Amino acid sequence: MKNSILSQRDLAVLWHPCTQMHDHETFPLIPIKSGQGVWLEDFEGNRYLDAISSWWVNLFGHTNPIINAALKNQLDNLEHVIFAGFTHEAAIELAEKLVAITPAGLSRCFYADNGSAAVEVSLKMSFHFWQNSGETKKTKFVTLENSYHGETLGALAVGDVTLYKKTYAPLLMDVITVKSPDCYFREEGESWAHYSTRQFTHLENVLEQNSNEICAVIVEPLVQCAGGMRMYDAVYLKLLRAACDKYNVHLIADEIAVGFGRTGTIFACEQAGISPDFLCLSKGLTGGYLPLSVVLMTDDIYAAFYDDYSKMTAFLHSHSYTGNALACRAALATLNIFESQNVLENNRILAMKMTELSQRFLNHPNVAEVRQKGMIVAIELIKNKFTREPYPWQERRGLHVYRYALSKGVLLRPLGNVIYFMPPYVITTDELTFMFDIAWQAITT
Ligand code: PMP
Repeated sequence: MKNSILSQRDLAVLWHPCTQMHDHETFPLIPIKSGQGVWLEDFEGNRYLDAISSWWVNLFGHTNPIINAALKNQLDNLEHVIFAGFTHEAAIELAEKLVAITPAGLSRCFYADNGSAAVEVSLKMSFHFWQNSGETKKTKFVTLENSYHGETLGALAVGDVTLYKKTYAPLLMDVITVKSPDCYFREEGESWAHYSTRQFTHLENVLEQNSNEICAVIVEPLVQCAGGMRMYDAVYLKLLRAACDKYNVHLIADEIAVGFGRTGTIFACEQAGISPDFLCLSKGLTGGYLPLSVVLMTDDIYAAFYDDYSKMTAFLHSHSYTGNALACRAALATLNIFESQNVLENNRILAMKMTELSQRFLNHPNVAEVRQKGMIVAIELIKNKFTREPYPWQERRGLHVYRYALSKGVLLRPLGNVIYFMPPYVITTDELTFMFDIAWQAITT
């Protein structure tokens, strides 16, 4: 009963993200009372395995004892302080650690408070860098088809998921959108590396012809997450880095979703052996506890803003909660877990188990592809396996899977017709088996 009372109170006053609220006339909200590890529990004792890490933020489980302890301690000392003119230990220590663990050349951190805000910072900073450097014709950004970088107007403009973007098109800046390296579309028998290399020519042509007006290329390294967990080969990033250098254009790596071990390395860029000019991080940064984001950039970029105040070259961008002390402390505790536990090695074992458990989906008549990068597995549902005709979106196949899985105790949240698993790293192999079994039942019943 408690569930439905809370649900009713909620629906009287709240408006939820990414939701057609009308759906809740037939499908109840789930009020959560507590969380522990990979499990969430409602007010009636039902438990749900959080197979998507609560929108990809949670790394080491809900109410993690290490992060909890660090936060309690921070809470008694400093919760927050204005970050202009003032600073604090957690922000400094976190920036030092981030500079140390991110790809070489990234030497400075600018904090913001969510993923979209970090993307806005990187776009503004790249544009402003070129203005400060006298390259005033550089005003455009290049993005890949089907990419996603957030919901604020700048971030939405450099994204390409029609569902989120179309309505707002008249409000958005013009961007140059090029064909994606998304390997779902490779020819039969073609390798990922070959397809991704082939697709790179589209981007190379754009840079060759328009680099004098391009500030930066923005990409989600290796996995286009919100675009349906579409994946590509690391060779694309290598080629992109070389071309950005050749044509004097910045490379912005948006690792908001894939950073912090998701794809098998701490950062996805490592798999290509490259360093971007800007690296955007959020989500897993605080272990899924508190909103925080950060943009890392190179010395060169910082230097272009550093001058006497009267030159008016400063980056006068701010958010009230920049560098929030509690959020920085949660992030430090999260990095501590990476340092003190064998996280990547343990994830490799879990990822192998995920490979094994996903194999049976390959033969399902309505599965077009099973793909994986590290701790992300995606299953592409399809109406016709041979013609690759997708299910019409109106059928809301993903919603059926969502509802079925919830009724069996697993929180899956398919993206359209793509079921994916992106669990916290503290999941056990038995829990993985349970999660995949429920997904299997969801597509076979
Ligand atoms: N970039 C990427 C790659 C993302 O996946 C997301 C969030 N799904 C964002 C940016 C935006 O982050 P936020 O939701 O915190 O604004």
